[in-house]
Amino acid sequence: MSTATDLTLPTFDAFIEGQSVKPASGDYFETVNPYTSKVWARVARCGEAEVNAAVESAQRAFTSSPWATMTASARGALLHKLGDLVAEHAAELAEYEVRDNGKLISEMGAQLAYMPQWWYYFGGLADKIEGAVLPMDKPDTFNFTVHEPLGVVAAITPWNSPIMLLTFKLAPALAAGNTVVIKPSEFTSTSTLRFVELFEQAGFPAGVVNVVTGFGAEAGSALVDHPKVAKIAFTGGSESGAKVYQAAAKGLKQCTLELGGKSPNIVFDDADIDNAIKGVISGIFAATGQTCIAGSRLLVQDGIYDEFVKRLVDFAATARMGDPMNKDTQVDPVTTPPQYEKILRYIDIAKSEGAEVLLGGGPATERPECGESDFFIEPTIFAGVTNSMRIAQEEVFGPVLSIIRFKSDEQAVEIANDIAFGLAAGVWTTSIKRALSISKALRAGTVWVNTYRAISYMSPFGGYKQSGIGRENGVEAIREYLQTKSVWLSTADDVPNPFVMR
Ligand code: NAD
Repeated sequence: MSTATDLTLPTFDAFIEGQSVKPASGDYFETVNPYTSKVWARVARCGEAEVNAAVESAQRAFTSSPWATMTASARGALLHKLGDLVAEHAAELAEYEVRDNGKLISEMGAQLAYMPQWWYYFGGLADKIEGAVLPMDKPDTFNFTVHEPLGVVAAITPWNSPIMLLTFKLAPALAAGNTVVIKPSEFTSTSTLRFVELFEQAGFPAGVVNVVTGFGAEAGSALVDHPKVAKIAFTGGSESGAKVYQAAAKGLKQCTLELGGKSPNIVFDDADIDNAIKGVISGIFAATGQTCIAGSRLLVQDGIYDEFVKRLVDFAATARMGDPMNKDTQVDPVTTPPQYEKILRYIDIAKSEGAEVLLGGGPATERPECGESDFFIEPTIFAGVTNSMRIAQEEVFGPVLSIIRFKSDEQAVEIANDIAFGLAAGVWTTSIKRALSISKALRAGTVWVNTYRAISYMSPFGGYKQSGIGRENGVEAIREYLQTKSVWLSTADDVPNPFVMR
């Protein structure tokens, strides 16, 4: 990513204590529209100075702004107001995302239109976080618990769905009463900067929400190392997730991690084939496979294998690539140059491992519908994959599907679970008995039966195994941003023997 020298480009600065802040170094980097392959904006390259200022601002807001003494109901009302503003600005925010990450306007538009529900749900939850009065077993003693916010939360997001993944963190963190410093991906910072302007409009005190832009190794790492950060909420790849977890351990900080996946989509002999084909397509080619929940390992049972695979390939071959702003486009460009190279590298690895190309298998940048973009890759399907191949074990994060054949239910479960990841899984069957037994056996944080890629503010989301730690969404999510205090009151007239535990 290059230094931005064209001063005529739209410029995006950090956002600290309710103000746009220029980087002390004066450095900016470029942000590229993946469909035009052109630089369209410059973004502040923040370092330690901006991170320090942002964390101090968040800390002040936590301890001494009106936020610190605001009632939970008033906080909830602010979240509700923010939801209204997101609804009002959904189309504009979706366009920012498409320009920056190249994902379809149909996908980003639908995401943004749904986002207000997170703010309404967690706004409603803000004043329902109740402690307890405990039936204490000691005489003359009264004990109660309260759930309190942690302090400054560092929210670090990737490039694939910036506002949605940020909302998963911010809505519960703010409902719980924390303050936040956000570090968006260096590839897609602009929608986050436009989004945070809405907080001021909603009436959040300055400093409750701050943004530092820049690179993982600079702004990101300074943020997770900052001693006044109480909790890190991270979404990204496993490699940077491990570094962030190490930083959390060093500073003894709370940490939740939403990481990668290599999810199995399992089609049994008794499945409704038309629906299963659509589910498999949505699992791997929607968003060009650039989703953590991509169903990138397709397991198909012996009895329907030939027919299913043929019909799947025929369907996938009709997928329309093109301008992501066109509502009829189905497959968009890859978002970043390193990701484009990585996907092509994995296609070569699969070929060298002996997998058979049934569809695609290379760049699609020469196609007229792909315009000036340097980042289109053909929807690609490999057959003859065994679960020990790298193409079956490692996350590609692109439009590349690996098909594995299986015979029995036991074998399907064994293959599905034989992996380091455990984010999600799909099961296609018309048998309720099989649906329940297979979903119980799968080691994954989300199991979809006869559907795929369904997400809601009310259903917990997160990974088993190396796909993550902690949960986002649902009532569980707010607990990730709270700590419990136990308060003891003695009503005894005398303090008993001080040398014995009470
Ligand atoms: P990434 O790990 O490269 O970057 C994610 C974020 O972390 C970016 O903001 C980056 O600047 C920052 N970062 C990188 N190194 C850091 C460090 N040492 N300290 C602090 N911050 C650092 O991931 P990406 O390429 O942006 O996103 C793709 C990955 O995200 C995929 O692996 C995908 O599976 C995962 N993902 C997971 C979920 C989920 O909910 N489980 C959702 C979306 C994406």
